[in-house]
Amino acid sequence: MSTIQAVVFDLDDTLYPERAFAFSGFDTVVERFGQRLGWGSAEAARMRTLFDSEQSATVFNAVLEESGVEPETHATLIAEMVATYRQHAPRIALHADADRALARLHGRYRLGIVSDGFLGTQQAKIEALGLAARIDLVVLTDQWGRDHWKPDPKGFAHLASEFRVPHASCIYVADNPAKDFLAPNRLGWRTVQIRRSDGIYAGLVAPSGGKPQAVIDTLDNVDACLLG
Ligand SMILES: [Mg+2]
Repeated sequence: MSTIQAVVFDLDDTLYPERAFAFSGFDTVVERFGQRLGWGSAEAARMRTLFDSEQSATVFNAVLEESGVEPETHATLIAEMVATYRQHAPRIALHADADRALARLHGRYRLGIVSDGFLGTQQAKIEALGLAARIDLVVLTDQWGRDHWKPDPKGFAHLASEFRVPHASCIYVADNPAKDFLAPNRLGWRTVQIRRSDGIYAGLVAPSGGKPQAVIDTLDNVDACLLG
């Protein structure tokens, strides 16, 4: 096997808990719309509960319905709430083991990120987490449009090319077997799943060719995957 030269991470639920972003977004929505709708901490708590339920994709709709807000206003309000959520400056922090891994690997490997998601939202997360100073190259696939989100290979190919390292010397560390490993596997990268007990996507099934080559449960153990 080739020597690993580039260690590339996914962002959401790999380096920081995605639930924390969602909760930060709900709090911001309640702060912004609370006065107008009579919402407060009860609605914020309800959003958190809904996020952990099967209604996670329709949190604002559900709370609007439950709180008796005029149905005619829902569509406009939901659009405004979604925009607020996506554009807010999140109050989030790195997982402790991610913080330690970045400190340990810095200077020994080229460090990268390949992340999907709305461009402005992902940029705000990178900013909030202070990652620009700790990662050599952050690749946000939405810069090329949604067609290039994973499992499209463009982000991975771009990163290897910018780093001028062969694909076989790259490793991708990510949480979501449904979409994260297909492209890097095909390109010849090494792939590792970080399976966190509170991860939103940890239980999803990998498509054919999309299984990670190794699984770890903390980034404290990632170093062993880089050897050989
Ligand atoms: Mg992820």
